[in-house]
Amino acid sequence: MTLSASLEKIFGPINFSDKDRDRLVYSHDASDHSGYPSFIVWPTSVEEIHKLILLCKRSNATLVPRGAGTSLTGASVPNESIVVDMSKMRKVLEIKDDYIVVEAGVPLADLNRELKYKYFPIQPESKASCTVGGMIATNAVGLKPMEYGRMEDWVESLTVIDGNGMPLEIKGDAVKHFCGAEGNTGIVLKAKLKLLKKEENRSSKLLQFNTITAMYDQIKKLRYDPDILNIEFMDEFCSSLLGFEDKLYVIAEFRGDKGEYKGKDSEDLWLKRETLLKLVRGEKYFQMEDVQVEEGDKFLHWLRKNRIPSYGAIGLNMFNVLFKEDRLVSEMKNVLKLLKGTLGIKFGYGVLKKEYLDKDFAKRMHALKTHYDPKNMMNRGKLI
Ligand SMILES: Cc1cc2nc3c(=O)[nH]c(=O)nc-3n(C[C@H](O)[C@H](O)[C@H](O)COP(=O)(O)OP(=O)(O)OC[C@H]3O[C@@H](n4cnc5c(N)ncnc54)[C@H](O)[C@@H]3O)c2cc1C
Repeated sequence: MTLSASLEKIFGPINFSDKDRDRLVYSHDASDHSGYPSFIVWPTSVEEIHKLILLCKRSNATLVPRGAGTSLTGASVPNESIVVDMSKMRKVLEIKDDYIVVEAGVPLADLNRELKYKYFPIQPESKASCTVGGMIATNAVGLKPMEYGRMEDWVESLTVIDGNGMPLEIKGDAVKHFCGAEGNTGIVLKAKLKLLKKEENRSSKLLQFNTITAMYDQIKKLRYDPDILNIEFMDEFCSSLLGFEDKLYVIAEFRGDKGEYKGKDSEDLWLKRETLLKLVRGEKYFQMEDVQVEEGDKFLHWLRKNRIPSYGAIGLNMFNVLFKEDRLVSEMKNVLKLLKGTLGIKFGYGVLKKEYLDKDFAKRMHALKTHYDPKNMMNRGKLI
């Protein structure tokens, strides 16, 4: 039997496609990288995925798990491989006081809608569409990384199928074998995620600066404040899009009532900040790079000189840098080399940011790949 006939037998005619129009749809993600899907399948059960892995092993086929395809690095783009679209495995299975269990294909927006008095703290700017499986695979970062860390800090346990076709229940440190592995070690099927109580008793200050030097002097002090939770930055361009003056702004969030924006006002200030991406896109800045650089002040001076807009979690020197065209991106990469900064720390590495992968992380990923996917079937050519 051909691979195509075997896939159709497993998934049925509705959840299998070899049509060119579907191939076109799945040849991209949110980056400008493209590739060719051999076939597309939409699993609806663990059994189907298990059969798929065994079939790939027998026929030496490769596959790419796919959530919502919001990757900015080509991570979910196929390379003559079978696209495994997880969007039909999207049930919320259980909600308790301090955890939620979901299938991997559930969009974060659906998960958020289910929560009334609780809160899931990793809220990336793609939250309207990205899925929990994609967030786990890329170890996603939300709006407040200084306080909440990243996805791996909120995953209690996972159900996965690895490249050996083994269904596995993963807990403890082994969760990190899948968080940030970008689908190289297995397909995430189900996740148990920790929840928080709705935010309470916090406040924010909105600080305005004329110079980057003055801003960094203040940020150094804020980092030592025992009540500081988050420090967010917007340059002049982003500030004016939000209706503030044409200046540098920092939102500093505190435990307790130190800031002049208290309770609901503080929440509203952060909600206003969340509207920024939409406004930026309205100005036709469609390319966004994720930078982390210790000498953030020097980097911001360079951006300002070149009129390149930016914003981000300045408390961790993590910036979203905005471009309308490629011309200045390569110059920025040279500047980052000089300043020992990096790309990929937030949006992942996929195909486009592989060169920025930390050497120790890459070594660890190679070892995990050999263990979980020795035939290199999953996301071949990506990340490592
Ligand atoms: C406008 C915009 C804003 C963004 N903002 C942020 C941000 O603030 N923070 C941030 O961290 N990221 C951000 N991103 C990047 C992206 O949204 C995240 O990486 C997101 O977590 C990807 O989720 P997804 O469901 O779209 O995954 P996809 O793009 O479909 O896949 C991403 C990777 O995960 C793998 N994968 C997907 N599902 C599974 C699964 N079930 N099992 C195993 N592997 C799987 C894929 O193979 C691929 O390697 C942004 C992207 C856009 C377009």
